[in-house]
Amino acid sequence: MISGPHNGKFARERERMVQHDLKGRGITEAGVLSAMGRVLREEFVPESYESQAYADGPLPIGMGQTISQPYIVALMTQELRLNNYCEVLEVGTGSGYQTAILAKLAKRVYTIERFADLSAKAQAVLGRLGINNVEFYVGDGSGGWPEKRTFDRIIVTAAVPEVPGQLIDQLGAGGIIVVPVGEGGVQELIVGTKKEGKLIERVACDVRFVKLVGKYAFEE
Ligand code: SAH
Repeated sequence: MISGPHNGKFARERERMVQHDLKGRGITEAGVLSAMGRVLREEFVPESYESQAYADGPLPIGMGQTISQPYIVALMTQELRLNNYCEVLEVGTGSGYQTAILAKLAKRVYTIERFADLSAKAQAVLGRLGINNVEFYVGDGSGGWPEKRTFDRIIVTAAVPEVPGQLIDQLGAGGIIVVPVGEGGVQELIVGTKKEGKLIERVACDVRFVKLVGKYAFEE
């Protein structure tokens, strides 16, 4: 692939990531591969880490937080089984990279971040990339979106000790939630489907996430 003004100077690295780190490790959904092949990940990492933007690992983004590993972003997105009618709640905006991938595949994304500084940076990057189907909220997302409503999908990008009941309440019938659950440094990535008001859960894999800090998650 030839690098040009539309796909940035890291086009080759991005293509390697899609082929090797995503397809090569079992990500199959065309929409996910296409979205991750189009969103410029280098825009979401601090300038000093730009050259590592396509390495398959997490990177620091400030405030002691990290941008998730590309493979995990792809896996969580694939598990959500998005379509362009979906309204998605994301708890833990962070850099906004996962937000951007969701926004490419869903109708609308509602994203919550507890640090105003990270949310502001994410808003600026998404604005620059012309992604405008996202609502941002700064605050504790462990209890869901501040106004009572339901979503077709929910993704939590930080670890919780157990799936907060408030999030299950905000998941519509037949909806899917993807969330890392566990008390220690390693958590289980839970994929839950809501059936008759209850969550049917399965474990996708082990993951390592920073903690979700909030009223219905971990204490400060
Ligand atoms: N998907 C993001 C991951 C960021 S790490 C990315 O790839 O960039 C998880 C984020 O969750 C951090 O930014 C952290 O500040 C945020 N967070 C932690 N507790 C939270 C809470 N209770 N509500 C909202 N955001 C929270």
